[in-house]
Amino acid sequence: AKKSGRKAIVLGSPELNEQVENLIREENNLREAFAKGDLEMFYQPRVDLKTGKIVGAEALMRWRDPIRGLIAPKDFIPLAEEIGLIGKMTTWALDQVCLQQRNWQDRNIDIVPISVNLVAEQFLDGQIVTTLEKTLEKNSLAPQYLEVELTESAAMQSPQKTVELLKQIKALGILIAIDDFGTGYSSLAYLEKFPIDILKIDISFVQGVTVDQHAEVITSAIIAMAKELKFLIVAEGVEIDGQRQFLSKHACEEGQGYLFSKPLPATEFADLLINHITY
Ligand code: C2E
Ligand code: CA
Ligand code: CA
Ligand code: CA
Repeated sequence: AKKSGRKAIVLGSPELNEQVENLIREENNLREAFAKGDLEMFYQPRVDLKTGKIVGAEALMRWRDPIRGLIAPKDFIPLAEEIGLIGKMTTWALDQVCLQQRNWQDRNIDIVPISVNLVAEQFLDGQIVTTLEKTLEKNSLAPQYLEVELTESAAMQSPQKTVELLKQIKALGILIAIDDFGTGYSSLAYLEKFPIDILKIDISFVQGVTVDQHAEVITSAIIAMAKELKFLIVAEGVEIDGQRQFLSKHACEEGQGYLFSKPLPATEFADLLINHITY
């Protein structure tokens, strides 16, 4: 009966029919995966470019499917946004990261701040501040060990409201990073109004360094501007030593990328901390 019900709402070509069915199947798969705990957080270190020490990490979501294996965020985050599941998934991610930090701290591991990616939706419904506060409290975690990342485009969907919420988040003692900087439609004026602590230069600029003069000019200009505004600067997508050299030369403080490490499962990331790995 389920199948015929589904067919009844689908008009059009057999191809379209199949696409819609696949989408419905994938939606169900994702809801089920979330419910039964098949999502997992990976951790990618953030490195101090001077000392080579791990000074933070970004939490990145993976879907570990028993049959298909690891599924990348690009293959399920957009769907999660579409079906309105992303808010719940992010709340889960925040809890997961705090729980993990608590566990590591209990084992006397020298933990570092870990950032979680937020979405625009959460800046519109206003629940985010309470969620963050509760999660920290529940896991008895000091706020400096949790950070949040927000893309420029998400921040700009409702700038006024975002400014208010970011102020409240900051008041909790949680640092705020602007993600994918340089790719959104932000006005530079708002950068000054947002209570931001960290600016992450988008991978597209960083990857152009050493091969494209324009990318170099833009990257060094972003670093110079961020310094004036007293933001901590993180370069995303550092893959080769030449890029690291360029970034160091322009006094970019931190880098994240395959040159140091890919995003890792929790236990592998913990090993880096336990062994005080430097790059
Ligand atoms: P993002 O927030 O910009 O995350 C950085 C992405 O760059 C990650 O991809 C990371 O694996 C990748 N990356 C890091 N270093 C390098 C490098 O040296 N070279 C290259 N080519 N890539 C590098 P990932 O994990 O596939 O995530 C993609 C995007 O999916 C993220 O981009 C973010 O927008 C979204 N995402 C991931 N996890 C979450 C989550 O928990 N919540 C939300 N809302 N979005 C997430
Ligand atoms: Ca991010
Ligand atoms: Ca990014
Ligand atoms: Ca991105």
